[in-house]
Amino acid sequence: MTDSLARMQIADGGSGNGEKWNSVDGDLAEVFDPLNFHQAAAQCTLRLWRYLDDSAVKGLDLVEPAVLMKAARELMTDERERVADFDEGRLGQIVDLYLNTGIQVHSPGYMGRQFSGVVPLAGLVDLVSSVANQPSSFYEAGQLPNVAERLMAEELNRLIGWDPAEFAMVTTSGGSLANLTALLAARNRAFPGIWARGVAEEGGRPAVAISEEAHYSVSRAAGVLGIGEEQIVRLPVDGQGRIRPDGVVPVLDAAARRGLKVFCLVASSGTTSMGAFDPLDELAALTRPRGIWLHVDGAHGASLLVSERHRDRLRGLAEADSLTWDAHKMLFVPAPCTLLFYRDGDAARGAFQQRASYVFDEEPDVYSDFDSGDKNLECTKRPMIMPLWTLWSVYGPALFARKIDHLCAMTGQAHRMLRAEPDFTVLHEPEANILCFRYDPAGLDRTALHRLQLAIRNRVRADGRFFISKVDLDGVAALRVVLMNHRIGAEHLAMLITEIRTTGQRVLRENAARDDQKDGDQR
Ligand SMILES: *Cc1c(COP(=O)(O)O)cnc(C)c1O
Repeated sequence: MTDSLARMQIADGGSGNGEKWNSVDGDLAEVFDPLNFHQAAAQCTLRLWRYLDDSAVKGLDLVEPAVLMKAARELMTDERERVADFDEGRLGQIVDLYLNTGIQVHSPGYMGRQFSGVVPLAGLVDLVSSVANQPSSFYEAGQLPNVAERLMAEELNRLIGWDPAEFAMVTTSGGSLANLTALLAARNRAFPGIWARGVAEEGGRPAVAISEEAHYSVSRAAGVLGIGEEQIVRLPVDGQGRIRPDGVVPVLDAAARRGLKVFCLVASSGTTSMGAFDPLDELAALTRPRGIWLHVDGAHGASLLVSERHRDRLRGLAEADSLTWDAHKMLFVPAPCTLLFYRDGDAARGAFQQRASYVFDEEPDVYSDFDSGDKNLECTKRPMIMPLWTLWSVYGPALFARKIDHLCAMTGQAHRMLRAEPDFTVLHEPEANILCFRYDPAGLDRTALHRLQLAIRNRVRADGRFFISKVDLDGVAALRVVLMNHRIGAEHLAMLITEIRTTGQRVLRENAARDDQKDGDQR
């Protein structure tokens, strides 16, 4: 044991002997007083207990922004001259307002978005992170977070299958930023002179190939990198929303004829709209021989790797070059927590060539080996790995696998239930935990069908029991559920179906009444 570790353990055993807080300014002493903090924390966790204990079906109580502004403003102290006295009641009201006005991610009524109802313990670790404030990116600033990143990367890379001696992982604040970072690394590998000369055209104008179903952050990232819309080539998809491998070569050939050099193909492992998984093995067989970087946007679906039952959806991932993985989606930790994996860590490092004497060491040592700032856009960032690593350490991987298996099974159940309803149309076979469908009673044209889905989505949300989302498929809106909560059972799916049907029929009745009214007025 090192001396410093021994000292830490002594300090731990001897808590309470610490020096009393000793500030010349009484106001500050009050604010920073550890006992006050402890009491405030107890008050917050008590409220969180009640919040988590409520299993009512509720989605979102959408409040007019002006009303919420007013309520929030009333909670702001008028004191300007001195540090206001701590008002426990005010803190309680702020926490209550916070908890009650959000999407109720812990309720079975939440089925609309991809961020999760978190494993509660993860939130406690975030609290520790916030108070200890050890931002990661550089080892000296966040020692345990940087070590935890390395351990978590090793654990997850066993599922990815890349060479343990060569791969690298960095955390980023969200999947959008991870996609940008991966595209940057890919571009800089293909155009090595780019930091020096700006957007270069060695061997053609830089271009990326993505599917129609790629997340919008990918084309946005391309734009940030100076890759115009004309340099984004679109790959065709099948009816399930998956890239059609037989459509790839013609698109790449056409791009080459236009003087484009496609340096990266982005596949999705779990598209955002339908949760479709592109065929990575077949795509890698096309990109590898051409020297095209294969980036896998697994923001949503990479987590399926943890499940033995579902991992096969990412078959071929071992042949890819980089992977975006949002743990704040299917690994159930607070947002943001994104992991960006590079198959070849050196390629990633080569992509970031800036020097800064205040952080980067000239002589790499045992510490700087753990820095991630050399392959990442961000400098100061949350030690976002800590909740994930702690859950993994405390409960093991089965926690995640169990929950994912349940969510995918429930989505399959939803699919079967909806298919059995004559007035619903299901739009695809779910591959994970996302399902798109329409309330589709006979006799509506495309426009009416489209409007009906939008009206249903908004009314269901306004009624406050279920929170679902919508997405346009083939130009017509569809309803979309994303099951993120293990408390969701078949009874909640049945309730949702009834709610949608009742709402849809009400909308249609009101429309018909309005049309009659109009006809009457005209007569
Ligand atoms: C959610 C998602 C993103 C965006 O990730 P953020 O963490 O929200 O920035 C990108 N791609 C896919 C496929 C996603 O599902």
